[in-house]
Amino acid sequence: MAGPRGLPCILMYHRVARPPFDPWGLCVSPANFRAQMEWLKAERRVMPVDDLVTALEAGEVPRFAAAVTFDDGYADNALVARPVLEELEIPATFFLTSKAIGQGPFWWDELAALVLLHSQAVHFEVEIGSSTTTVRWGAQHAPPADLPEWRAEQGGNDARRSAYLHLWELLQHCDAGERSQAMRGLRERLGRRQDAGSDAGELPMSESMVRSLASPLISPGGHGQTHVPLTSLSPGRQIAEIAGGRADIAAMTGGGAPTGFAYPHGFHDAAVRTRVRDAGYRWAVVTDDAAVNPRRFDRYALPRIGVGDWPAETLCRKLR
Ligand SMILES: [Zn+2]
Repeated sequence: MAGPRGLPCILMYHRVARPPFDPWGLCVSPANFRAQMEWLKAERRVMPVDDLVTALEAGEVPRFAAAVTFDDGYADNALVARPVLEELEIPATFFLTSKAIGQGPFWWDELAALVLLHSQAVHFEVEIGSSTTTVRWGAQHAPPADLPEWRAEQGGNDARRSAYLHLWELLQHCDAGERSQAMRGLRERLGRRQDAGSDAGELPMSESMVRSLASPLISPGGHGQTHVPLTSLSPGRQIAEIAGGRADIAAMTGGGAPTGFAYPHGFHDAAVRTRVRDAGYRWAVVTDDAAVNPRRFDRYALPRIGVGDWPAETLCRKLR
């Protein structure tokens, strides 16, 4: 929960969009996003995370301070969110998965489209990392009406949703090479996704979007190179993901290296936090759904409040 009234809050967004499925609750509709930002502008002291960290360290955080962040580097951040942020003069950090920039969809979105929108019955085995798993479901004429509202936390209440959750779990713990091999296997079996090309905002940003990203309001941040949980990697791979991702972003933007980092999937431990500091990052954010405690905070584990597809009143209640 947001905690006592007036504590600083860092908000976490992923996408501003209305897709046909959203298992992880990552999307806020454009209308709700605008209303949330208008409320924030009117009722909170919105500042860049960098300035919030400076204020925290000086022990001088204003009451009702807030900061806005976006994870992953979706194109809709640049196409849909950015114009609203600029119109309302709200600063934000966009955390970028550096090796995803200019590439096809994030694997979890492609997996969801391949599985949840697939109309035919299937029954096959696929290799994912070191294990072989069976994929099986019956025919569906159309995606179920409740699919847009279904969330992973509700569990797999039909064969496609169960398959999606099972495959997601296996793929999440693969390294990038194993995962792209497994995704190739799934594509061969399931064919092209049925909604291909319908949502340009779902893709990661292009290189030209990233090149023109940095502005007085928008700060690029680091989110690793390939969006793997960092705690499961060897020290060498952790450094490649953390420091390598930071160098990638500096090279793409042509500006300074980013000062802030968001842990992919929120996974971190003492070793990962040390590597983030050693890579030159000044601060890092987690996904703990809490306000920042100005009297006791870790600069490399600042909590954030995940914002859902809510009307502004719900955000207001959550931050009160
Ligand atoms: Zn992420």
